[in-house]
Amino acid sequence: MILLDGKHIAAQIRSELRTEVEALTANGRRVPHLAVIIVGENPASVTYVNNKIRACQDVGIEADVIALSDNISQEKLLLEVERLNANPSIDGYIVQLPLPEHINETDIIRAIDPMKDVDGLHPYNVGLTAFGLPSIVSATPKGIRELLARYDIQTEGKHVVVIGRSNIVGKPMAMLLMQRPYLALSKTASAALGDATVTVCHSKTRNLKELCLTADIIIVAVGQPCLLTADMVRKGAVVIDVGINRVPALATERGYRLVGDVDFKLVSKKCSYITPVPGGVGPMTITSLLQNTLQAYMMNNSQ
Ligand code: NDP
Repeated sequence: MILLDGKHIAAQIRSELRTEVEALTANGRRVPHLAVIIVGENPASVTYVNNKIRACQDVGIEADVIALSDNISQEKLLLEVERLNANPSIDGYIVQLPLPEHINETDIIRAIDPMKDVDGLHPYNVGLTAFGLPSIVSATPKGIRELLARYDIQTEGKHVVVIGRSNIVGKPMAMLLMQRPYLALSKTASAALGDATVTVCHSKTRNLKELCLTADIIIVAVGQPCLLTADMVRKGAVVIDVGINRVPALATERGYRLVGDVDFKLVSKKCSYITPVPGGVGPMTITSLLQNTLQAYMMNNSQ
């Protein structure tokens, strides 16, 4: 079994990004600039935002956090979004999800300027991705694609089972994998990805185990510890664990530890490649956000 080391690959990509950002400033151009809106103080969201800001600093991308109270009205949040749309010094921004229940997430996402939508969630970018056209691709599926490419894991003709159909992971992941082949964006990745036969599963899927047993690659994005067990995985399969779950661990300083959706201990004995949690998909997602920010910068400052 080979561990798909997202932390290591993310560090490689960040080093490449740092070089690109340094080249911009060496040519007298300003550095790319990301903004992150966070509403409320959901502990997991605060951690993710802090990690994103640190990652920006690491590669030389300027980053601001706009922290808003969790009782902000939808109208006021929309005003913040419009302000960022109109601000020429902001190349891209994200609205950290989830949002409080009184705010309609779809309304907020639709208000983001698609050219600054570095989470790749706006229907315009999702539509371009579905067409197989250049677009800002949702960060987690993009990171998984990159991880597969850097380990030279081909998807052509493979049966991929994606568990989860969310707009941020499951659906865009399925779209990328089923497309006609394209080369991964990175300079060093050699694999052409796409051309897979994709099955998307969700909470109403009746024969999850049977479907998984026919999969060459399983991508799990559910949010339930140990959803994927060893009896659901055939020998030699590739397993990508997107889940991030906090489980109580009283002996630790934080009182919890992070686990994925896969029963790692037993599944890892059967598969050919597997991502750990933490250190697998998570760092790749953040790195994709950095890549998307640079992409937005290039699109918005092309002349
Ligand atoms: P959502 O809650 O939006 O989607 C979960 C999906 O899982 C839904 O489609 C749901 O089905 C499906 N599901 C729920 N129960 C089952 C079941 N028993 N069998 C099969 N499918 C099931 O989650 P997200 O996609 O936003 O996130 C999924 C996980 O990935 C979370 O743990 C999240 O924290 C993590 N995550 C990690 C990232 C990273 O960078 N590593 C990035 C983004 C998310 P239905 O549609 O029918 O309800």
